[in-house]
Amino acid sequence: MIENDFLSTPEEIKLRDEVKSLVKGVDSELLRKMDKNEIDYPFEFLHEAAKRKLLGLRFPSKYGGRGMTWTAEMTALEEIGILGSGLGCSYAMVSIVGEAINHFGTEWQKQEFLKPIIKGEKLSAECLTEPRGGSDFFGTTSKAEKKGNKWLIDGEKRFIAGGKVADFYLVYAKTDPEKPGHKALTAFLVERDRGVKVEEVYNLLGFRGMGTARIVFKNVEVPDKYRIGETNGGAAIFNRMMVPERLTSAAGALGGARTALEIAINYSTKRKAFGMPISNFQGVSFKIAESVTKLDAARALIYTAARAADAANKGLPVDPRRLVSEAKHFSTDTMWEVVNIAMQILGGIGYTQVYPIEKLLRDARLAPIWTGSNEIMKLLIQHEVYKMMGLPSKDRDVEMDAMEWYKKVEKVYE
Ligand SMILES: Cc1cc2nc3c(=O)[nH]c(=O)nc-3n(C[C@H](O)[C@H](O)[C@H](O)COP(=O)(O)OP(=O)(O)OC[C@H]3O[C@@H](n4cnc5c(N)ncnc54)[C@H](O)[C@@H]3O)c2cc1C
Repeated sequence: MIENDFLSTPEEIKLRDEVKSLVKGVDSELLRKMDKNEIDYPFEFLHEAAKRKLLGLRFPSKYGGRGMTWTAEMTALEEIGILGSGLGCSYAMVSIVGEAINHFGTEWQKQEFLKPIIKGEKLSAECLTEPRGGSDFFGTTSKAEKKGNKWLIDGEKRFIAGGKVADFYLVYAKTDPEKPGHKALTAFLVERDRGVKVEEVYNLLGFRGMGTARIVFKNVEVPDKYRIGETNGGAAIFNRMMVPERLTSAAGALGGARTALEIAINYSTKRKAFGMPISNFQGVSFKIAESVTKLDAARALIYTAARAADAANKGLPVDPRRLVSEAKHFSTDTMWEVVNIAMQILGGIGYTQVYPIEKLLRDARLAPIWTGSNEIMKLLIQHEVYKMMGLPSKDRDVEMDAMEWYKKVEKVYE
């Protein structure tokens, strides 16, 4: 309900209505089954989204996409986020893995992998995180060794969403043991039936029914034509994939937070205490005001970051990395905060399974951890900001506006 239409083009508003119709049609029983871990993966949702041509919106129409913008895709993701982080992730995975294949893949890879994921005929998963750690991505220890025209992959990846049932994985492995990670990783497309072993399917606080697994590669043989991009060129692919990875997390979290807040707003107008609706108490309505302000701020940041990514796609000299990291960190922290506020407004009943707030809260706890933790987002943001501030500037030298600007001897730095 709480949207800002004037931020969107007519095309984006039309798309949002299409996505709203998809979201509305999702059977609540599917969400309950996922939360009870009764299914391995929500295939039926993906198939329905594919049937409506709503997957892989940014990719060219010849592969089944619609050639739309990042901004359009984030409009869709906010709506999908209403369904929670599981369905949000299954929807976003096409965008994330698809980005690597569309930008760096060969025509054969696009026909074999990109087209089928957009059509919902194949399921992809991305394998970045290892048991040894996710934050230090460039410290990847899984390795691939070239033997003739084939690669032998050895290693382990954990917390892989869809890992249990994916048809193929996008895997990063170290291909030069002598060089540091950012010059030594290569990305591969690896089909599960090449001997990939699913060793653990995790019991999670939330995000259930997604087959999130630890998977092991032992001498898994992959022909060279399954390599994406250059050998040792994985860093460029990773950096590019992190745009959809983090923007979709941000927009999905916004949708989830909006859901919780809307439930709380409705509840507060109906629930009475001391003879009046609790929305009459400023202790409640001010929380709503603060929450909706933060959601508007998160949306503004997400749209700004998406527009930066669109500008970069058009060849303009824009690096969206800082804004994307800001959007991910701010929106996911906001989701956690807003869902907690919603639970507080519902009081005790919010802590039960009568309302979906407790499920949203469990989903929300994941958001600041995954797709690059929010600490890692802050590392990236500060890095980019210091880099920017080190560039020559056309701005006014405001230090000269001080009354005693001339006392340069007092400006001691060491
Ligand atoms: C349900 C779920 C689904 C997931 N899906 C996928 C998936 O599909 N594919 C995939 O590849 N990964 C996936 N992940 C992994 C996720 O991206 C990682 O958990 C995340 O990147 C953090 O890595 P880690 O768990 O190894 O924590 P670590 O990297 O060990 O970090 C632990 C803590 O230390 C902090 N920290 C680490 N380094 C620094 C630093 N330099 N400065 C400040 N703080 C730091 C982190 O922020 C974190 O709080 C998923 C995780 C979960 C829980």
